Amino acid sequence: MLLHLTDQIETVLLYLGLLVFSSIAILYWLTSSFMQKAIKSSSVLAQIYKQLVQAKKDVEKISSELTAYMDAVGKITLISTIDHKGKILQVSEKLCEISGYSQEELIGQDHRLLFSHVHPDSFFVDMWTTIAKSQIWRKEICNRSKSGILYWVDSTIIPIVDTNGKIDHYFSVCVDITAHKQKDLDLNERLKESHCLHSIRNYLEQDLSTERVCQNILKSLIAALQFPEMAVAMIELEGKQVSTTGYKENLPSQISTQIMVNKEICGQLKVSYIFDLPFIFPYEQNLIDTIAHNLSRWYECKEAEKRIIKMTTHDALTGLPNRHLLQDRIEQALVHDIRSHKQMAILFIGLDHFKTINDSLGHDIGDLLLKAVGERLLTCVRNEDTVARHRSDEFIVVLNTIATSLDAAKVAQKILDSLILPYHIQKNQLHISGSIGISVFPNDGRNADTLLKNSDIAMYHAKENGRNNYQFFTDELNKSAHEKHFLGLDLRHALERNELVLYYQPVMDMPGNHLHSVEALLRWRHPEHKLVAPDKFINLAEETGLIIPIGEWVLRTVCNQIRTWQDQGYNPPRVAINLSARQFRDNALTKNISRILNETGVEAKYITLEITESMLINNIEQVVETLNCLSEMGIHISIDDFGTGYSSLSYLKRFPIHTLKIDRSFVRDIVTDKNDHTIVAAIIAMAHSLEIEVIAEGIETEEQLNLLIAQKCNHYQGYYFSKPVPVSEIESTLKKSLLPVSKIYALYASK
Ligand code: C2E
Ligand code: MG
Ligand code: MG
Repeated sequence: MLLHLTDQIETVLLYLGLLVFSSIAILYWLTSSFMQKAIKSSSVLAQIYKQLVQAKKDVEKISSELTAYMDAVGKITLISTIDHKGKILQVSEKLCEISGYSQEELIGQDHRLLFSHVHPDSFFVDMWTTIAKSQIWRKEICNRSKSGILYWVDSTIIPIVDTNGKIDHYFSVCVDITAHKQKDLDLNERLKESHCLHSIRNYLEQDLSTERVCQNILKSLIAALQFPEMAVAMIELEGKQVSTTGYKENLPSQISTQIMVNKEICGQLKVSYIFDLPFIFPYEQNLIDTIAHNLSRWYECKEAEKRIIKMTTHDALTGLPNRHLLQDRIEQALVHDIRSHKQMAILFIGLDHFKTINDSLGHDIGDLLLKAVGERLLTCVRNEDTVARHRSDEFIVVLNTIATSLDAAKVAQKILDSLILPYHIQKNQLHISGSIGISVFPNDGRNADTLLKNSDIAMYHAKENGRNNYQFFTDELNKSAHEKHFLGLDLRHALERNELVLYYQPVMDMPGNHLHSVEALLRWRHPEHKLVAPDKFINLAEETGLIIPIGEWVLRTVCNQIRTWQDQGYNPPRVAINLSARQFRDNALTKNISRILNETGVEAKYITLEITESMLINNIEQVVETLNCLSEMGIHISIDDFGTGYSSLSYLKRFPIHTLKIDRSFVRDIVTDKNDHTIVAAIIAMAHSLEIEVIAEGIETEEQLNLLIAQKCNHYQGYYFSKPVPVSEIESTLKKSLLPVSKIYALYASK
C-alpha cells in the first residue's frame, strides 16, 4: 500500500515536470519577441520548477516515512488489502506471524482462507452489506491459523473508493485480542457451564423418561459449548442412543466420556464439532465428565427405584408378577370386561409333587425348575394375558377376555401338555405335571378374591382327581371346600371332645400266615360326618400344628393299648405308628416318646415308627441324630410308601432303618405292569442285600400276594388280609394268632 502511494506521487511529479517543460517551450516561443519580459519570466518559472522539485522530494519523504510507519504498524497489527472480489492483495508481517501463513501463501488467495467457521453466515452477510455500502465495518472476528489454532482480532474494514466513487479495494486493520478475549470467553463459558449444570440438575429432579432426560441434557450441553451452532452430541445409555440432529460417528474433534452405572460402563456421552475445531477450552471435557457423572447417579437411582418397584410387584425368582400385582391386573381386567360384557378366566396351576423334587434334589434345582415352569407358561398364553406366581409352586394365569369357557379349557390343556415335557436342569432330566383349577367371570365370581378362591378350590379338585388335569369350579366344589374349612375349625376340638379313634390293620407273615405286627391308623368320629379318614384331616392338622398333640395322643393310645393287651395276657404285636413330617422335625420328639414309654411302662421294642422318604432328605445331621436316638431306644424305623419319593438309595445305608414298606401303587399293578413288577423285585433284592426287611402294602388279591411271595417279600399287608379295624376286632385277630397256623390261614383265606 505504501509503495503504491509513492509510485502514484512519482507519476504525478513526472507528469507535472513534463507539463512544466512543455509550458516553458511554448512560452519561450511565444515570448521570443518579448525577450526582455522573458528574462524576467524565466526567473519566475525557475522558481516554480524549484518549488516543484522540492514538492516531489517532500512527497518522497512523506511516502518513505509513511512506508516505514506502515511497516512498523504492520509488525504489531494485522493489516491486509483485499480486492472487491475478496482476493488478498497485501498482508502485513504480523498477519503472517499470527496466521502462520507466509506472504506468498496468502497473496492471491481468497480471504476466506483465514475463516474459522465459528461465526454464523449472518455474521459475514452483515459485514459485506456494510462495506458494500462504502461504510466502515468493525467487529471482533475469530479466525483460524494455518495450524488450526483459533485467534481473535478486533477488525476494522475500510472500503477504498476510486475517483469514480466505486469501491476499488478494502483495507483491513485488525488487532490481536486473543488473550483478552480468552479471558472473556473463559468467564462466559464458566457462566454457561454453571447454567448448563444447574438446568441439567433440574431435569434430573423431574420425573422424566430416560429418553427425555437425555434430550434435555443434550440441549443444555450444546448451549453451553463454545460454538453451539456447529456442535453436535450424543448420549448412549443401556444400548439406546439419543443424539442431536446432524450427529454422526467419526466426526473430527470428538471428545467423549463414559457413563458408569454401579461401577460398570453402561454408556457414553460424545460431543463433536461438525468442523475440525480444536477444543481450546479444557473444561469442555470437564463439563461432559460432570454431566456424565450426574447422569450416572440419576440412572443408578432410577434403576434402584425400578428394582424396588419390581420387587414389590414381581416375584424375585421367576420375574413374574406377584400376588399384589396379580390382584391389580385381575381388577383392571374386570373393569374392562364388565364394561364390554366379556368373560374372563382364572387358571390356578398347582405343580404336582413339586415338594418331592425340592426335598430330594435341593432348593437350587427346585428354584430353577420353577423358573423354567414360569417361562413355559408364558409361551402358552397371549401377550395381553397375565402369568403370575402365586405361592411357592402355584401359578396363576389370567385370560383377560374369553369368548366361552371352552377357550379357558383349551388354554388349560395347552398348559398341561407343555408342562409335562421334560426339563433339563443341571444335567438332570426332570418331569413335572400340573393340576389346574378354572374359575370364570362372571359366573364363578365378580371380584378378584372370589375368582381366585374358587379357582384354588377347583385346583384342589384337580389334584384329588389324579393330578395332571384341569377342573372347572362348580357349586358342588364350593360346598366341599366349605366343609373342609369347617372341618378345620372342628378339628381343634376333636381331641378334647374325644372324637379321635385308632383302627388297626394287621401285617402278616407268609407262608405261615400269622400276625407279624399291626399298623395304627387314625380315624375321626365327627359328630356330623361320621367316620372321617386321615386323608381328609392329617394335612389340616399339619397346617395348623395340631398334629403335635394329635401325634402324642396316638402314641399314648397305642402304648396304653399295648399295656392293656399285656394286662389281658396277650403277647402284643409290634405296633407301627405313622409320623408326619412336622412331628418328625419336632425337637421334643424323642423326649416325648421316651416320656410316654416310661409313663405307660411299655417297652420300645413294641413300637415301630413309620416315616416317609422325603423326611430324610433335609437337615441330614439332625435326621441321623433322631433316628440313632430312636433306634438306640429299641424303636424300629420303617420307611412308608417306599418308591414314591425321589430316593437316593444311598441314604438307606446311612440311617438305622429296619423296614421298607413298598408303596401300594406298585403293588396295585404288579400283576399287570411289568415295570412295577421289576421295580418291586429290585426293591426287595436291594433291601435284602442291606439286611432290611420289606413289607408290601395294599395287597388286595391272591395274584398280587403270590407274586410278592415269589419275590421273597418278608411281610404282607392289605385288604386281602384285613382292612384297618377297630381295636375290638383286632383283638379277635390277636386271639386267633394264638391259634395253630393252619387255622389262621384258613381264617384269612376265607375273607
Ligand atoms: P399309610 O400309612 O400308607 O397307610 C396305609 C393306608 O392304605 C391306610 O389308609 C390303609 O387303610 C390303606 N390300605 C391298606 N391296605 C389297603 C388295600 O389293600 N387297598 C387299599 N385301597 N388301601 C389300603 P388310611 O387309614 O386312610 O390312612 C391314610 C394315610 O393317613 C396313611 O397312609 C398315613 O400316611 C396317614 N395316617 C393314618 N394314621 C395316621 C396317624 O396316626 N398319624 C399320621 N401322621 N398319619 C396317619
Ligand atoms: Mg403307614
Ligand atoms: Mg403307606
